[in-house]
Amino acid sequence: MNVADSMRVASALEKMGYHDTAHPKEADVIILNTCVVRQSAEDKAVGRLSSLRPLKDKNPDLIINLMGCMVGVKDNPVLKKRFPYVDVFSSPSDPEPLVKYLLEKEGQSYELNETMTRFAYMDGELVLPTAEKGNLVASFISVVLGCSHACTYCIIPYRRGIEKSRQPEEILSEAQSLADQGVKEITLLGQIVDRYGMDNPDYPTLGGLLRRLHSIKSIERIRFLTSHPMYMTDELLNTVADYPKVMPHIEVPIQAGNDQVLENMRRGYTNSQYRELVQRIRERIPGVSIATDIIVGFPGETEQQYQDTYDLLSELKLDVAHLARYSPREGTVSARRMTDDVPDEEKWRRFRVLEDLQEGIATEIHARYLDKTIPVLFEEKSKKGRWRGRTETNKLVFVESNDDLHGKVVPVKVYWTGPWSMLAKLV
Ligand code: SAH
Repeated sequence: MNVADSMRVASALEKMGYHDTAHPKEADVIILNTCVVRQSAEDKAVGRLSSLRPLKDKNPDLIINLMGCMVGVKDNPVLKKRFPYVDVFSSPSDPEPLVKYLLEKEGQSYELNETMTRFAYMDGELVLPTAEKGNLVASFISVVLGCSHACTYCIIPYRRGIEKSRQPEEILSEAQSLADQGVKEITLLGQIVDRYGMDNPDYPTLGGLLRRLHSIKSIERIRFLTSHPMYMTDELLNTVADYPKVMPHIEVPIQAGNDQVLENMRRGYTNSQYRELVQRIRERIPGVSIATDIIVGFPGETEQQYQDTYDLLSELKLDVAHLARYSPREGTVSARRMTDDVPDEEKWRRFRVLEDLQEGIATEIHARYLDKTIPVLFEEKSKKGRWRGRTETNKLVFVESNDDLHGKVVPVKVYWTGPWSMLAKLV
């Protein structure tokens, strides 16, 4: 989502005549887009921001814009005091404060256009930065902004604000504008993307939106993430199954395999409901790839409760598990009311055991691709001179070839598989 947000700012600046540079030293404006989902992400953002200070000291005309979840949606006087060398602060997804600042600096007046809401510049057009035009094969479109779910550990609703689906027409024209600039694959984004349209009776469902996007000619592939288990309707699964451009790839986090932990997280489902959902997805979409997210070391998580997560993962054999160690985030329910009582070494141990388990599962799943001929969408040539692409199920494939495969869907035959990628030859 931050990649999508950064692209939107780049697009707004591109419309004003700015262009991207290769090095911060050459820049007149530096935008630091931040994530604070875990402490480690926030530390990284603070580190990067501090490293920009010498540039500002050397060049007082440099404009620094701090953006994203570190800023949040409310005025943040503490942050402004802490980083006085930041010129502009902006909320996630919002290029407006920077644009306004730059225009005023140039002596131009800035009047908020009627259609520009808090989510400025979601105007149905995305101008890709010069370097990306004709180059970018796969791009993101945020379709649900914010989140109103309030899982007890999660800071995102506090920093991205309440859930709001974007207008379908705007999304469609944005997708068309990306297609016109050479993009072949779009991924629709939302914290709970399968809730698309549920906050507005006039909007289609996510399934309906996918079916409308399906008719954009030069778009070859469509994905969506992240889903929440409670909102995955049959209508959505049927759309994935029946519409060939909608990829058989579902990202649906479970977070924990134990019901008490799930309740403490306030996720709203049980582990058996999740198992049934996985079964339902697999029955409806043959060959589907399913990814999940897991948090280990949630407050109070016992060895036995953690074991339930292990058992669930080893039983379901999902394609991907994004693992995280619980990190208390200021202001969340779990940080306020629960004790972060699983020691760090123990979180690491649980993390590594699951990592090993998942590596084995992924190796096993990928081995099924051996000697198969499958379509791959190629994105770019790597530094090593191999073409990098993805299967319909979002698996990484490398192919050695002198042909120009950029942006093309090509059938390839897999001759080697590992836990993280595969090697293939053109057929
Ligand atoms: N909205 C999506 C994704 C949220 S962020 C969802 O709810 O599924 C991506 C992942 O970060 C989450 O799925 C969760 O596994 C992890 N995460 C969120 N808050 C966290 C925290 N406080 N500590 C550790 N991991 C966290």
